[in-house]
Amino acid sequence: MLSISRSLCQKNLQQSHFFICSVRTFHRTSAYKRFLIQDKTDHRKPQYLKLQKCDFRTTQNLHIPPLLAMLLRPVLRIGALLVGRSMKRWWIRKSGQEKEEYKRWFSQKSNVFLGCFGLYSLILALYYVTHLKTDPLTQRSRFIIFNKEQEKKLGEMILETHLELHKHDLVPHSHPAYKRLINVIEKIHIANRDLKSMRDAQWSLTVINTSLTNSYTLPGGNIFVSLDILKIIENDDQLGIILGHEMAHSLLSHSLEALSDQLFWDFLIVMPILLIWALFPDMTAAILHMIGERIVNVMYNLPFSRVLENEADEVGLQLAAKACIDIREAVVFWATMRILTEMHTLPPEFPWISTHPAHGDREKNLNQNMPKAIELRKDSGCPLLPAVDPRDKFYKRSLKEHELYFKQRGIIED
Ligand SMILES: [Zn+2]
Repeated sequence: MLSISRSLCQKNLQQSHFFICSVRTFHRTSAYKRFLIQDKTDHRKPQYLKLQKCDFRTTQNLHIPPLLAMLLRPVLRIGALLVGRSMKRWWIRKSGQEKEEYKRWFSQKSNVFLGCFGLYSLILALYYVTHLKTDPLTQRSRFIIFNKEQEKKLGEMILETHLELHKHDLVPHSHPAYKRLINVIEKIHIANRDLKSMRDAQWSLTVINTSLTNSYTLPGGNIFVSLDILKIIENDDQLGIILGHEMAHSLLSHSLEALSDQLFWDFLIVMPILLIWALFPDMTAAILHMIGERIVNVMYNLPFSRVLENEADEVGLQLAAKACIDIREAVVFWATMRILTEMHTLPPEFPWISTHPAHGDREKNLNQNMPKAIELRKDSGCPLLPAVDPRDKFYKRSLKEHELYFKQRGIIED
């Protein structure tokens, strides 16, 4: 059960009517604190990147409850498997004469079956096209079948699960990491309040003490940061890059897009699964099913996830640029991650079977996006960037010097 009290506002930033609240949340496993950021600015302000395209939609969107969608996914796959297998067993029990009769009946009705298949494909195609939305930040057309309210509810549900999962790892709210993280989130939030999605966002932060060098965002803007990743982050500019990335995931509703996409795929592959289990012996069907799943994963799901990660990197860089962060540190951070991986301090990477792009690819991609982001930073009225480019400083170091520097910072042991 989640209960939020707004009377606990700690800090009120004048002028912008922006306030940050400490929120007391009661959780059945342990009491923890998180914060919300909200503003009361004029919602009629123009957005930084305005949507001009029209979406193709003639009727009200049919939004499926996310919980139902999550339950539907395994039900569809297992259902197709069981139906296919039952059809096979039913067929085996038939005599030769009965089989001939059914074959004749099937060929007579083949048009009806083809019609049903066509109708199913048409309904799916129509549903897909009518649920495409153009994102105002990226202008990318995405298939999303949930709305923001559903995202919030889904977020609250998943948050409960993650808090339960990390109940022994929760860092007390008095830890200095909270103050540092909140300051940076607040900075990015204020600088980007011209975006409607940012004004509407309600951020929550949970710091965990796990061995995972990670940060992630749950639906609805619930950001999790591990203390371990803070050891690698060299300064608040790099922290701004990481938090900008997490906030971008939320502004772009990546979790909703991924879930929508997965559910659509499940509806597409229901027929092939059913046919595999109906036509092949169990062992062969199981192998073909497994190979098919792996192929879809490597050829579609994982590359799609990497596209979303790159998009969050690029939009996060823009959010950070507007907050006057030294965005060149983004390249330094991912270069640091790459070198730490090469030194075997971080786990090895397998980009083809990973949900995230390789550290080196992110470093290159961000470097390519840097001139545009620096221009945006300049246009946002930020002070000049420090004369010394942190990228030059980083790349001038030899591997030995990097090792020594990481030891001095306590990232690697002597
Ligand atoms: Zn990410």
